[in-house]
Amino acid sequence: MKLRLAAPQYVIDIDPLAGVLGYVRAHNGDIRIGAMTRHRDLLESPLLNELLAIFTDAERVIADPVVRNRGTIGGALCQADPSEDLSAVCAAVDAKLVIKGVSGERVIGMDEFHRGPYETAVGPAEMLVEIRVPVPPRAGSAYEKVDRRVGDWAVAAAGAAVVLAPDGTIANARVALAAVGGEIVSPVRLKGREPSPETFADAAAEAAAACDPVTDQRGSKEYKRHVAGVLTERALARAATRAREHEEEG
Ligand SMILES: Cc1cc2nc3c(=O)[nH]c(=O)nc-3n(C[C@H](O)[C@H](O)[C@H](O)COP(=O)(O)OP(=O)(O)OC[C@H]3O[C@@H](n4cnc5c(N)ncnc54)[C@H](O)[C@@H]3O)c2cc1C
Repeated sequence: MKLRLAAPQYVIDIDPLAGVLGYVRAHNGDIRIGAMTRHRDLLESPLLNELLAIFTDAERVIADPVVRNRGTIGGALCQADPSEDLSAVCAAVDAKLVIKGVSGERVIGMDEFHRGPYETAVGPAEMLVEIRVPVPPRAGSAYEKVDRRVGDWAVAAAGAAVVLAPDGTIANARVALAAVGGEIVSPVRLKGREPSPETFADAAAEAAAACDPVTDQRGSKEYKRHVAGVLTERALARAATRAREHEEEG
């Protein structure tokens, strides 16, 4: 509304639902996050820090304490800003979104949720109520962001999620980028490969080639493309290290 992108006739205050829709809990191998969970509660969640550290990484670099005390994950995802950090996080970890309306409930993936900049699949009589994130064994995740100053929107950012096979090779890996065209890059070629620097360098080159940044006050498109590649490599390496740590603990 402040950006004059919407001029609704009525505004509904959902803040009274914060108690019901503010939670982070484990459920049958998933982590479930209520849509009104605030940034600060995501940052301070021991469950996320232990199992989905990508959220902790991202929350450390989103805005400032004032915004984090009030802003919610649901508001962040529904804003659908292409530079939004939690959208890249949720895409990287293959989150499912629960949308509820007068006619019932539906569960969709991030690829269906965002229909374009500032546009989502949430209908007029619906709201996002929950985010469900699978946590398979031997999984790790990480988020890397470059911003011009602390708490600013990203110049470029990359989220990565890695699942290792019992033999230590990569069983599955996903990368999602923010602020560089909103592309989700799934480096399927990583499947079966060793989680080595060479593997991650290949994925970084793929991500840099696949993204579509624009030149603006945050940097040239060439610079952003380069940063997206570097951050992809770092995020994948850290995610794989965390996956190995989970394997050793398990
Ligand atoms: C100064 C500042 C700095 C920021 N920096 C960053 C940053 O570095 N990185 C980053 O990723 N973000 C950043 N943000 C964005 C911020 O994280 C999100 O905008 C915020 O979390 C969303 O706030 P909110 O929950 O109050 O949602 P609102 O602003 O109230 O809502 C946003 C939109 O989503 C809709 N909506 C909200 N909740 C739901 C729901 N449950 N179901 C359906 N629709 C819903 C609203 O109707 C509205 O259209 C920044 C914001 C500010 C003000």
